[in-house]
Formats: sequence, C-alpha cells, structure tokens
Amino acid sequence: MKDQFNPESLMMSYGYKPELSEGAVKTPIFQTSTFVFKTAEEGKAFFEVAYGLREKEQNEELGLIYSRINNPNLQILEERLCLWDKADDCAVFESGMSAISTVLLEFLKPGDLLLFSKPTYGGTDHFIHHFLPKIGVDTIGFHHGQSNEEIIELLEESGKADNLAMIYIETPANPTNDIIDIAACVEIAKSFSTQDKQVKVAVDNTYMGPIWSHPLDHGADLVLYSATKYIGGHSDLIAGAVLGHSEDMIRVKTLRTFLGNMASPHTCWLLLRSLETLKVRMEQQQRNAQQVADFLVSHDKVEKVHYLGHIHSEDPDYEIYKRQYTSPGAMISFDIKGAQTEAFQFLNSLKLLKLAVSLGSTESLAQHPATMTHVGVDESERQEMGVTGKLVRISIGVENAEDIIRDISNALANCDC
Ligand SMILES: *Cc1c(COP(=O)(O)O)cnc(C)c1O
Repeated sequence: MKDQFNPESLMMSYGYKPELSEGAVKTPIFQTSTFVFKTAEEGKAFFEVAYGLREKEQNEELGLIYSRINNPNLQILEERLCLWDKADDCAVFESGMSAISTVLLEFLKPGDLLLFSKPTYGGTDHFIHHFLPKIGVDTIGFHHGQSNEEIIELLEESGKADNLAMIYIETPANPTNDIIDIAACVEIAKSFSTQDKQVKVAVDNTYMGPIWSHPLDHGADLVLYSATKYIGGHSDLIAGAVLGHSEDMIRVKTLRTFLGNMASPHTCWLLLRSLETLKVRMEQQQRNAQQVADFLVSHDKVEKVHYLGHIHSEDPDYEIYKRQYTSPGAMISFDIKGAQTEAFQFLNSLKLLKLAVSLGSTESLAQHPATMTHVGVDESERQEMGVTGKLVRISIGVENAEDIIRDISNALANCDC
C-alpha cells in the first residue's frame, strides 16, 4: 500500500483493519486500559517482545497488552505519521513538550554537552536552561547565520567539545522564522562522532512538518513535533510526536513506557481525524499566508515582515530555504512601526483573528511573543533574536484570505503608529 499511494491518500485507511472492528469504516476509539490475552502463553510472548527480552519473529506483531505500552488508536496514528516523514517508527506523546523532554532525557546523560539553536520554543528554552543543568548536562546555544567554523570554535572554546552528544535545532525558529541549515548541523555531528559515540541531530519540525519539510531526508536522526499545532490543527487537543530510525525509536518508546507520557486513545482518535485533512488545510493556510504577507509588506504601519516567501534570491538563506522547504509555510511575524503600545493596539483591535498563543490551527491566531510565548527568555537574548516589543506573530488559518486581510487592515488602521 504505502509504496503505491501518496500519504494524503492513505490517511483515511492505512494501518486499520475494519474486519477487526465489526466492519466499521472508521477506527473506533479503543477506550480501554488493558487487553484480554487469548492464553497465558500469548501474554508471555507479548511481554517478551515488549520488554525486549527477545527479537520479534518474522511477521510477528507486538500484541496488545496495556494502553501505556500500546493501543490501536496510538499504533494506527503512529503508522500514519511515519508515511509523511518516511520514518521507520514514530512515538506519539501527550504533548509536544513531553516529546521534546523525553528525547533530551534519553539521549543526554550527566557530563554530556548539548548544542542547540536559538531561539527555540519557550518551553524548550526553559527545559534547556533550567532543567538540564540540574542533571549535569552542559549546553551551548548558537544562532541563525553563524557558520560551521564559528560554531565549531564555540564548541572548542568551551573545552567540552569531546562530550558533544546532541545537536538540537528548531527551524524555522519560533517566532522569528529564522532558518538553520540541517545538513550543516549533520556535518558538525559527524565530525564530533566517534566509533562508540554517535552525536544525534534532532529537529523540531513543528512549523513546516510534516508536509513541507522532512528533516530525516537531510540527515537528521530524529524529528519532533508539537502535534497540537498543524497535525492536530483545530485548537482542540495537546499532543506531540517523535519520528526516526528504529534503533533510536526503540529507546524513545522504552523511556515513554516508563515515563507514561503517551497520548490517550481519545487524543489519538482526534489526531487520526485531523490527519485526513492535514494536507488540504496546510495548503489553504499557506495560500492565505502568502497573500497576507504580501499585503503586510507594502503597509505603511509595518516596518518589517518576517516570512520565508519573501527571502530574496540573493540572500544567503535562500539556498537553504529552497533545499529544506517545499513551501514558505503559513507563519508570519512582523515588526509594527512603534513598540509594545502599538503592537497591543493592533492585537486589541482584531475581530476575526483570535488573540491567542499556539499556531497551525484552522482559525487565524495572533500574539505578542515578547510578553507572551517568549516572556521567559532572557531579555538580552530576546533583543539579540529580534523578539522585541514591536514584534507580532500571526498564524494564518483556513478562512477567506480577503477577510483575514480586511481584519488586519482595520486593526492596523486603529494603531497610532
Ligand atoms: C507549541 C510548540 C512546542 C510545545 O508543544 P506543546 O504541544 O505545547 O507541548 C514545541 N515546539 C514548537 C515549535 C511549538 O510551537
């Protein structure tokens, strides 16, 4: 099936066998904590595989045991998500943050060094700065535009380069749309890997995935999502996902089993429903975003628009953008003329766009990163990244583009800037 059809054609059926569920065309919600074994021998065999006591035999599937370990809604969802990123395996979590923190905990140990791109999502930034030091993990940040030579120099200067264990990047970065070269990070990871230590590259692909960018194709080991955003897409659930190669995913799934932070059957069922429209939603959002970005760029109350679709072909980022992404996406941020006061006037005047954090949903959302999502980031770092009082971030939804533009236009007219 999966070699014959495109992912969007398989989102309605792949991995689900109607004959196991009274012929129901849709996957029912398996709202159950535990599963009945046919025999004690079967239960024993399932546990041997689940706990890694032996390899799966050919054609043997992991039997259903207990919903913290596996559940049909969780498994079908994971199989469908694998199709977009062409990953061996996927683990779905109860939030994007639990996906991210589980990966960092599994691949980092005391004494290790983490190299990460700045800015990252506020929650990730907090975990890196406030939790990892408590378990003795050192961290070094780098930002968009730094060359590999400069990054390697940073690592060498720290005196801990030999302990590099992971490179964690978020691209395009939230909220600035700065992009990071994944393949260049893979090069750095390779140069610091040794026979008995492989430096992992993990990419938060929430802004672009799983439709417009596939970090595994560029050499990344792990791709992470807040499935709360585009994958869920309706602002009605919180979830996360990690995808990668089998040997890494066994580790991620084992830690998930013991942290117990998998997504519930109901959340998985909602995500299965969301996946059916993922591509049409994202394509409509992108078409709308392009029109909104073009409108903003020529507006006299707007100082600067940060949108991938506007990267000039002479900009050094252009080649990275073309190589990594098949679309400019549907996230726009812009500097309003003025400062926080003007940004707030704009946000308070919106009628159709909702004043809320989060992104990737069917409805358009607007927020003020410096005082909302990124308020926890150190002030001087915020300035350095361009997350200032005048920056507004908007996530474009599936509404009529002209309505979105009219609402933004009216709100800008209400600003004294
Ligand atoms: C929202 C978000 C997260 C965190 O995900 P939750 O589902 O809210 O836990 C991580 N990374 C990015 C880029 C995000 O936008």
